[in-house]
Amino acid sequence: MERLAQELEALEGQALRRRLQVVEEVLPGGKVRVNGRVLLNLSSNDYLGLSQDPRLVAAAQEAAARWGAGSGASRLVAGNLALHEAVEERLAAFKGVEAAVIFSTGYMANVGAISALVGPGDVIFSDRLNHASIYDGIKLSGAALERFPHRDLNRLERLLQGTSGKKRLIITDSVFSVDGDLAPLADLVALRERYGVWLMIDEAHATGVLGPGGAGLAQGLGLTDQVDIHMGTFSKALGSLGGYVAGDRRLIDYLHNRARSFIYSTALPPPVLGAIDQALKIAAGEPERRRYLLEEADKFRRGLAAAGLDTLGSETQIVPVLVGENSRTLEFAQALQNRGLMAVGLRPPTVPPGKARVRFSLSAAHAREDLAQALETIAGLAEELKVSSEQLAVGG
Ligand SMILES: *Cc1c(COP(=O)(O)O)cnc(C)c1O
Repeated sequence: MERLAQELEALEGQALRRRLQVVEEVLPGGKVRVNGRVLLNLSSNDYLGLSQDPRLVAAAQEAAARWGAGSGASRLVAGNLALHEAVEERLAAFKGVEAAVIFSTGYMANVGAISALVGPGDVIFSDRLNHASIYDGIKLSGAALERFPHRDLNRLERLLQGTSGKKRLIITDSVFSVDGDLAPLADLVALRERYGVWLMIDEAHATGVLGPGGAGLAQGLGLTDQVDIHMGTFSKALGSLGGYVAGDRRLIDYLHNRARSFIYSTALPPPVLGAIDQALKIAAGEPERRRYLLEEADKFRRGLAAAGLDTLGSETQIVPVLVGENSRTLEFAQALQNRGLMAVGLRPPTVPPGKARVRFSLSAAHAREDLAQALETIAGLAEELKVSSEQLAVGG
């Protein structure tokens, strides 16, 4: 234990130590109470505000009343309720593909699918900024990893030319969680076709948010059929919990047989399935929610840029502000919290060294006035703390 304490101290010294913060109450309008104070929550992934939607709560309660609190077993044993099948069918229709399989979390979907689909002798091409669960899946798979710089298609193509393997798989997030930018999906599809490789996309931050029906970036670009493996989560814009993989019927049958995080874990419980089912209905039927979210995000981003702040390549509801140093990033995040705004400071290893940032995540639950007020507060504090991009450049 003394050893562990020393390691924690070392983290403290680099301003890398993390601590849990307690949310004492969840309030309407995307607000929370922390340490007795009401804060505008600009850190959640509840992009459509569905986690607090009374219709999801009621659907969860009804499913629990009808089916129970738990599913009792894994899917292949005795836990495969008609409810699971119904939700997967709705999901496949929502995604515009043949079939889908639900995992207990998005993390488990990535780890299970990647390690099932490729193995030793195969090669995975992964964007440097892909989510940690993708990297954990790659490690578990035993396939060779070729990591390419963020969105660098030239580099990716050279790697594709320089490798061979039984199976080759390109994996990318569709919306990147630390920069809020988009994968160059049309170009990735072109490479998939030119080199005859699989393409997998993780739509965790895009499900419910992008595309005319809310299915994600692939749908938005009309490229659903050109992506082999669609992955995503119900834990973000869809407001509850669970991960999914969607695509060809044969892919899904294969995962039922080979994805260990699906096979050896208990099936999702009925209340969660009830909430997912309701969230899919709302996401498909109420496009005005994502329209409001993306319009407000656009305004917010332009406001920050006008204040001289660097929002990196953000094009979505995820809007980072580059600070640079770890300790200054924490200072900025703390100052924001003191003024009623909850936003996380992201530090290495989540981001590259020297690229620490404060990240703002917007939600359709946020009122226009609250976002306008937040923008003013952020710009004012950034000036006080000298966070603007010119000041960074001068200071090196
Ligand atoms: C959040 C996230 C996951 C994990 O999803 P959970 O359902 O929270 O486990 C996977 N990939 C990306 C890109 C994510 O942002």
